[in-house]
Amino acid sequence: MDEFSLIADADARGLAYLRGAAAQRVFPDAAALNALRRFEESFPTEGFSDAQTLALLDEIGSPATVVSNGPRYFGFVIGATLPAAAAAERLAVAWDQCASSFDGSPVAATIEKVAARWVLEALDLPRESAVGFGTSATACGLTCLATARRALLARAGWDFDNDGLSGAPEIRVVVSAAAHITVKKALRVLGFGMKRLIVAPVDEQGRIDAERLPALDARTILCLQAGEVNTGEFDPFVPLIERARAAGAWVHVDGAFGLWARASGLAALTHGVEGADSWTCDGHKWLNTPYDGAMAICRDGDAMAATMNSDAVYATASKDAQKNLMLEFSRRARGVAIWAALRTLGREGVAALVERHCRQARLLAQGLREAGYNVLNRVVLNQVLVRGDDDAQTIAIREAAQASGELWFGATVWEGRPAFRLSVSSWRTRDDDIADAIALMARLKRQ
Ligand SMILES: *Cc1c(COP(=O)(O)O)cnc(C)c1O
Repeated sequence: MDEFSLIADADARGLAYLRGAAAQRVFPDAAALNALRRFEESFPTEGFSDAQTLALLDEIGSPATVVSNGPRYFGFVIGATLPAAAAAERLAVAWDQCASSFDGSPVAATIEKVAARWVLEALDLPRESAVGFGTSATACGLTCLATARRALLARAGWDFDNDGLSGAPEIRVVVSAAAHITVKKALRVLGFGMKRLIVAPVDEQGRIDAERLPALDARTILCLQAGEVNTGEFDPFVPLIERARAAGAWVHVDGAFGLWARASGLAALTHGVEGADSWTCDGHKWLNTPYDGAMAICRDGDAMAATMNSDAVYATASKDAQKNLMLEFSRRARGVAIWAALRTLGREGVAALVERHCRQARLLAQGLREAGYNVLNRVVLNQVLVRGDDDAQTIAIREAAQASGELWFGATVWEGRPAFRLSVSSWRTRDDDIADAIALMARLKRQ
């Protein structure tokens, strides 16, 4: 065996896994989980062979995977991986580029620049914006919020880079009561205390109530949301952003999955979101690209480049070099798989993917209602929020569905009571899979 035969073996095993994925249990059974103990070895003094290591990874690892890269996974908003994106990712792994800047990888820098332009076109956001390709909506949100704070402080005459936060004017943050936990995490890590956040009340679908928006000023960051995790709903961007503009506040939008609605016939849901200052959006969720790939988008590209600059005497680069837009210095070319997905789908393909999932979510909601379930949201997007007759039944049905191995979806809490949530976001999900899911859920409801 030479090094290439090992890679060929890995490719063959990966292919066999993908071919078998649709028939595999969506969540591993007890035997597969128990077998994971095989990994609990002590750190070897003398290493094992590479072939043995790969074999262990496949033989014990593959059966213990969650088949979210399949048709019947409805948990969170996970998305699968499109073949075009998966294929590009494999080639890029072979390249092993350090995609910091053009000098590190001319091909990565070129492709990521094109991907950035296409992302702005697909999402119809201001074309002058900078786009950083980061690991997650969490990390990209952190980048945008750090940029927001630095920019607002600069407008107030404060030099954040040199003087830091001690003695700085306070920057207030207004967040939706339904904000995603990772937005709060980013704010917490950046040093905005949780007790100091100003919470904007939401309506029964999780949208900020514009009538009750707290006061804003030129030292406020307003965090809005495109796609609430339970309901899939959108904040009313037009009145909220109008208020923020008038006050001189910075508007950041968490659109981890929901912003893709803007690339489809459902774009009206996002009306006005283009007026914000910064946005985050994932590739690895609804665009169906591999982990981990997300976008930090900032209208004032210079502000993001100044916040995240990491030029050194031995490593200078343009202000749109990815190392000067994102946290990572050495980095994988995350934008390559996103480029491949967008190039293969085209504008029409992205729209069709999003529209299909929304249609399938409505089918699912209708089938579940007919089977006697309570659907709690309006199903404007790809999320279906559900309850049984009472809390005990809701929990029992969710556990039975998970144990079946036929599909998987997760628990949530809505208005203080247990519920569960099904999300349609895998390109592999066909209408037949939706019909099978409804049939299973109807059977569980009768039992
Ligand atoms: C998933 C999600 C996030 C976090 O995204 P990651 O890429 O997992 O960090 C943020 N906001 C919303 C609404 C999400 O659904």
